[in-house]
Amino acid sequence: MQPFTYTKVADTRAAVAAGQRGGRYIAGGTTLVDLMRETVERPAGLVDIAALPLRGIRVTPGGGLRIGALVTMAEAAADPRVRGTYPVISEALELSASAQLRNMATIGGNIMQRTRCTYFRDVTAACNKRAPGSGCAALHGINRSHAILGTSSHCMATHPSDVAVAFAALEATVRLLGPDGERTVAFRDFLLTPGTTPEREHAIRPGELITAIEVPALPRPVRSGYLKVRDRQSYEFALTSAAVALHIQGGVVRAAKVAAGGVGTVPWKLAAVEQHLTGKAPSAQLWTDAAARAADGARPLDHNAFKVELLKRTVERQLRVVGGGQ
Ligand code: SF4
Repeated sequence: MQPFTYTKVADTRAAVAAGQRGGRYIAGGTTLVDLMRETVERPAGLVDIAALPLRGIRVTPGGGLRIGALVTMAEAAADPRVRGTYPVISEALELSASAQLRNMATIGGNIMQRTRCTYFRDVTAACNKRAPGSGCAALHGINRSHAILGTSSHCMATHPSDVAVAFAALEATVRLLGPDGERTVAFRDFLLTPGTTPEREHAIRPGELITAIEVPALPRPVRSGYLKVRDRQSYEFALTSAAVALHIQGGVVRAAKVAAGGVGTVPWKLAAVEQHLTGKAPSAQLWTDAAARAADGARPLDHNAFKVELLKRTVERQLRVVGGGQ
């Protein structure tokens, strides 16, 4: 590990000032410390934001939820308002990591976590994300776990977060505080596909700090849930996953929110699936036909073509679970 400075801040203004000077924010530390040990990350200074008043979950005036950036994964998963209104969020959290990690890791840190591409974490391998311009060892290497959507020839690593898939499906908003004050960014614009600059992973500006995630209110009644498919039943990242929320009233799907994980370089909103569902009567055939659109635009690599069919089946199964027709 490289030498680094450590600063603990007690208010957001001091945090932003320290971030502006180049400090890296750290809270639970469940990703960054690992990466520093492996010398993948070499920050000159850490800014400990764990004491900032960014905890707490509250209902917004519009009836949605604001989840503070420093709420832990375990706290968010257990919150009765999250469980009652957005089970897709609590299920995504409970299917993530381990109990110990969920007790430490924060919601803000979760969506900022970096890819689990093994070449990214191997400092002897070529990796455009870690060392821009060095190449991509995954392109012709072992790419079974890599993305099939949103890729470029520069990078095809998946975003590893589960709860980010739920946030993408629900069209959440990220609240940021920076040197120029507060601003909000739609979740779909927050995480960036690699393009020619895979080292740029999010829309945060220098010094900006995530203060909260806001989830909009959904029309009632609504049912939602998260399905994660992986090589083993716990402590494993998704091969595919599906976050689904359906508002069904009067025998018709009035609104559908669907996103996929484990397949995209960012959590992948399935707009074609949503469009196919909306305005139609729920049926087993509807779930099958909608899910058939889940992999539209997929570009498999040498070892991950199986994800195309697996994604469709994952989405279809979760549509059945949430929408009925099991
Ligand atoms: Fe690096 Fe992305 Fe290639 Fe993995 S897929 S080696 S993260 S450039």
